[in-house]
Amino acid sequence: VGDAGNIAFVTLGCTKNEVDSDKMAALLEDAGYRIVDDPEDAHLVIVNTCSFLMSAVDEGLEVIFDLVNSRAELPEKAKILVAGCMPARYGDALSDELTEVEGFLPASEEDRVVEKVGELLGGKAPQEAPAGPAGNATRRSVGPSAYVKISDGCDRFCSYCTIPYIRGRYHSFSYDEICAEVDELVVSGAREIVLIGQDTGIWGQDLEPKSSTAQLVSGLAERFPTTWFRLMYLQPAGITDELLDVIAANDNICSYLDMPLQHCDPDILERMNRGGSADSYLELLERVRTRVPGIMTRTTLMAGFPGETEAQFSELLDFVDEARFDYAVVFPYSQEEGTAAAGFSGQIDEDVKLARAQQLLDACEAVGQSQIAELVGNEVTCLVEGFEQTDVGTEALCRWQGQAPEVDGQVHVPFQVDNAPSIGDIVLVRITDTFYYELEGELI
Ligand code: SF4
Repeated sequence: VGDAGNIAFVTLGCTKNEVDSDKMAALLEDAGYRIVDDPEDAHLVIVNTCSFLMSAVDEGLEVIFDLVNSRAELPEKAKILVAGCMPARYGDALSDELTEVEGFLPASEEDRVVEKVGELLGGKAPQEAPAGPAGNATRRSVGPSAYVKISDGCDRFCSYCTIPYIRGRYHSFSYDEICAEVDELVVSGAREIVLIGQDTGIWGQDLEPKSSTAQLVSGLAERFPTTWFRLMYLQPAGITDELLDVIAANDNICSYLDMPLQHCDPDILERMNRGGSADSYLELLERVRTRVPGIMTRTTLMAGFPGETEAQFSELLDFVDEARFDYAVVFPYSQEEGTAAAGFSGQIDEDVKLARAQQLLDACEAVGQSQIAELVGNEVTCLVEGFEQTDVGTEALCRWQGQAPEVDGQVHVPFQVDNAPSIGDIVLVRITDTFYYELEGELI
């Protein structure tokens, strides 16, 4: 492509989108396109969108219109391709509305990105594809930690959620596909693989022969013994004893469980189409902590679901105190067009939802921060992710197994120049202090 095939990505939304952008970039690079960081240097900008919530759609539209406005001032007008969840959710209605944009590529068709880009760039021939191992790469960027999608789609149809309509039915990627991707990332320097999907706990049940998440992670942990594996997004039904025993038995499977519970009131959980209760979830947590002592836990909760009474919200606050999650993310309920819950009676005023969400977050943080403070004195293995200059010297920015990337904070470790670690090293650290969710430690 030389001077006519520069592609920039703007990725919005969750880590699953980051993986999809990375894979599209690898396909394009393999076909001879050049990936550039700055949209101003690009002939085509791919905006990989999220449409899980209306607020994400609004953000996507804002980014697209900013690009449309800024390119008007450039000598060569870059084309814009809108990919991912917005075209998947809105289909032709989006192309009718966004006439300023040259192309659309729904999430389910992203493996056609090279063909689509070729159409938009008017047959400008790519430069020769890179020879050797860089050609045929399925992933592009590799740091010490990398995400791997083990499935896509979701069959749960929680009544408030748009994902099953956007991403389609649940489908597991095969063990061999996942293994090949992990292998490529490990060879390129990844020391931690974060396994993601909308519902990671039911991996393998749609494969022939059937398999399970426990079999997947134990197979990976054995095959890549010096790599950490971390599972995110385990719905409660997927947390089996078999899986917990595999986590407990393997030092390189992170003792960390991310289980989105959303609520604890049985009536609300029923109307969410999820099921469960405070008692069943507390029993689950006890089982988790008994089978994997010292495990760190994260959850997602929702405030202001339609019909949520003051009493039900108070019950949720009490549950947070009892459940003692280390980390939590809280969302106010969002009335999403096309979902069952959008038509439920008892929709709650926006200001009440926001106030409840803040109160719930404060309760979660009070519990979480007191749990984190108890880590002082522990000796933990940490992955070195980068460095930071402070007033008193240089610190290594690390994470221990109890912290997921990007969401749970880091361990800050000062070091002497003569024993400086490298990015990607696994080092032993004693925790000396905590600040909010950040930890301080010293190299042992
Ligand atoms: S489990 Fe529920 S909330 Fe999660 S993606 Fe599936 S339908 Fe949505």
